[in-house]
Amino acid sequence: MHLQTDRQRSTIRPLTDGNLVAQAAALVGMSAWSCDLASEALEWTPGVFDIFGLDAGTRFERQDTVALYCEESREAMLRLRAGAIETPSAFSMEAQIRQPGGELRWMRLAARTRVENGRVVQLYGMKQDITQDRLRWEDLRRLAENDALTGLGNRARFQSEFLDLPEGSERLARIGALALFDLDDFKGINDRWGHAAGDTCIARFGQRLAETFPNAALVARIGGDEFAVALPATVRPAALEMAMRRRLGRLVTQVEWQETSIPIGFSAGLAFLTGSPEAAFAAADAALYRAKRSGRNALRVAA
Ligand code: GH3
Ligand code: MG
Repeated sequence: MHLQTDRQRSTIRPLTDGNLVAQAAALVGMSAWSCDLASEALEWTPGVFDIFGLDAGTRFERQDTVALYCEESREAMLRLRAGAIETPSAFSMEAQIRQPGGELRWMRLAARTRVENGRVVQLYGMKQDITQDRLRWEDLRRLAENDALTGLGNRARFQSEFLDLPEGSERLARIGALALFDLDDFKGINDRWGHAAGDTCIARFGQRLAETFPNAALVARIGGDEFAVALPATVRPAALEMAMRRRLGRLVTQVEWQETSIPIGFSAGLAFLTGSPEAAFAAADAALYRAKRSGRNALRVAA
């Protein structure tokens, strides 16, 4: 391709009108900000006010805006900011904001440092409202982690919300035990009444499981006719086992399907969380296997 270099005809002038730059950036939710380190004075283009839900006229200080970050985002932002000032270096992150009116927004924050005489004197950068992108992404994630037949979490969700939880994490500490359920002789139901009837049984059992354990941290369908329930750590193990046995009676024993009642049974394995989620999963699975071997229609508790 021949590049036109005739100065008269092809000169592109640098855009120096700051207002126009800000307006063009606002089209894609971009806004600029700076923070003077000595005085903590802030400068924002209008888009930042929008993200934080603040009126340009209101008086507020940097600490007030920091308080609007949701906790996890605030901790990450303050850590990255301190690191950038110390090194000095740039950083970027996605942060969640709770506006004074309660509305949640997501923004992408990019920051650089301005250094004078070897010291960082200013932080500046861009903020972009990415709320819509995040909502779309969360919708996709929900779809990817949902089981269409039962509406419960699927195996991927069981992985991310149970198996992958780090030991010592707050979320894992809230889980007291893992219960696994597997329908008894389900192949026989498919064989006798057909696959559509089998699907109805799975859907009904899954819904009933969720109703029976409303306080569960997670109820998921982790295989064809296999379900997992992460029970909350609100009661002592002995009480939890008793509560679990009482609740089993409430689970479905018959599914109405095209004017027939299909009897369904299940076996269950229960393991308390004493170590890693993987260990609890293996223990509950072994207990379930023992329940099946003992003649099905039973609950076994891991030793
Ligand atoms: P057991 O008592 O030992 O659990 O025997 P089972 O017949 O229930 O066999 P198992 O749990 O090993 O296998 C579950 C069967 O469920 C395998 C497959 O034929 C059937 N299945 C798996 N997914 C679906 C599904 O989405 N719909 C229907 N209708 N059947 C399914
Ligand atoms: Mg089965």
